[in-house]
Amino acid sequence: MPVGITDHRASAVLRIEWSDGHTSALPHGWLRQRCRCAVCTHAARTGAPPPPPAALVDIHPVAEKGLNLVFADGHARGIYPWAYLRALGDEPRHAQSVAG
Ligand SMILES: [Zn+2]
Repeated sequence: MPVGITDHRASAVLRIEWSDGHTSALPHGWLRQRCRCAVCTHAARTGAPPPPPAALVDIHPVAEKGLNLVFADGHARGIYPWAYLRALGDEPRHAQSVAG
């Protein structure tokens, strides 16, 4: 579980501190591209290119489950469970390097 969530707007990074002392730094644009909502999951499955990176503009906690992230391109459907956010933080940033 997270113990602290900080949105660094200037650097466009969402930083999550976990109860085990680990910290995940998640770039906004990369989070947008890794959205797992039905629309984005379907697009990825059909081979569509990933959405362009977009800044994070709002964060809504979803009970104890995770975060609903709202992006500057108007996309607000994505629910990011804690386990998924943690996994993203531990993943190499392939998507980000491709997006430049
Ligand atoms: Zn989505």
